[in-house]
Amino acid sequence: MPLKNPDISTSGLWRDERMEKAGFLGGLTKRSLGNMRDAQNRKRFFESLQLKGQDLKVLSQVHGTKIFEAEKGGENIFEGDGWVCRQEGIIPIVLVADCVPLFIWSRKNPIFGVFHVGWRGMAKSFAYIASTEMQRVYNVKAEELLASVGPHIGACCCEVGPEIKEFFPPEDFVVDKQKLRLDLNLEAKNQLLRTGMPENSIYLSSECTVCSPGYFSFRKGDSERMAAFITAKEGPSCRK
Ligand SMILES: [Zn+2]
Repeated sequence: MPLKNPDISTSGLWRDERMEKAGFLGGLTKRSLGNMRDAQNRKRFFESLQLKGQDLKVLSQVHGTKIFEAEKGGENIFEGDGWVCRQEGIIPIVLVADCVPLFIWSRKNPIFGVFHVGWRGMAKSFAYIASTEMQRVYNVKAEELLASVGPHIGACCCEVGPEIKEFFPPEDFVVDKQKLRLDLNLEAKNQLLRTGMPENSIYLSSECTVCSPGYFSFRKGDSERMAAFITAKEGPSCRK
């Protein structure tokens, strides 16, 4: 089913079509949709999506591994880096600019989550924790989960110092002209595989937020943030 606002579906939003096939709407807002750190801009954008509910959930992000269940009502006062959810009308959001926006959802059940995973989070196995937490909280098997590692700082641009070496296995690094670069896609994939997810359920975006046009990038000096979100497009009763 096409989105009601064709402009957003074509230009402003990075998306993974598999989410929509499973009954979810989600993605990463690009630069053209403006600074999603700005609550007013955020509200405007999500209203334009004409979703049934507009309970926007944001976190005070700390590069940690804490995950909350997003529920209707309540305050947005949580310090953490990820959401899991199973209710309609709620839009869990994390803000990113180079960090990995990780999306996980079920192909069978109306459960979904979104996570902010920078290199610090990845070093703390946050992709692994995100998948295992979804399995534990909702009592589902890894085989029914799908994951998307959205656009983030790629191995092309993620130059790191030698002090980062101790946090990741050697295969995560590309050594080029004495410089060290970190491959967050590979590490995310390996962490998700360790949770029992099949390899063909995991999509890795090859778009780099630093050198691909259209994204905000912390490394390039942008202070703006993009919103990564996922929400139920329709109620469970509408599912096959
Ligand atoms: Zn790059």
